Amino acid sequence: MQDLMPINGKFEMPILPYEALGTIIGKDTLSFHHGKHLKAYVDNLNKLLPGSGLENLPLSEVVRKSEGGMFNNAGQVLNHAMYFEQFSNTPKAMSPKFAALLERDFGSVEAFKKEFEQKGATLFGSGWVWLSADAQGKPVITQQKNAENPVTMGLTPLLTFDVWEHAYYLDYQNRRADYLAALWQIVDWTIIENRL
Ligand code: MN
Repeated sequence: MQDLMPINGKFEMPILPYEALGTIIGKDTLSFHHGKHLKAYVDNLNKLLPGSGLENLPLSEVVRKSEGGMFNNAGQVLNHAMYFEQFSNTPKAMSPKFAALLERDFGSVEAFKKEFEQKGATLFGSGWVWLSADAQGKPVITQQKNAENPVTMGLTPLLTFDVWEHAYYLDYQNRRADYLAALWQIVDWTIIENRL
């Protein structure tokens, strides 16, 4: 996976590569979600880093080695960096090789998507649904609460849908399942597959 490296002991704001994502994620959602929520996590993390002993480590290492407030903010920076990076207004399709991997373990790409959506819809409270690869390259879906990231379980995270209410409430209100179902239209599978 791509990781974030601190520059002079600070993490920079992950870039938002678009202003809106059609009707799937609106401009206001992105402006609050990236410009306010993610900004706060980055600022908090940078305040907690000095003297922590974790300065100058890649972000995934900070997530693995921290706890409490540091873990919550580091985890949320990594989670959001991966979330915002994986979408596009001109998304690339899934490769036949990756589709075959999902078909092998989930029966079909559609069955994989349904299980992923279902795990996102049934995650109680705030968190993330993830597709990761285990050490053998087997694809696994996990529900992660709050700021958790699959790197803490030794997995390689590939794809994530944010199910915190701030990710969808302006566009979908309480309809989390509709938000999850719509996101497939903007997932850039080249980015996902390059994380393997
Ligand atoms: Mn979020």
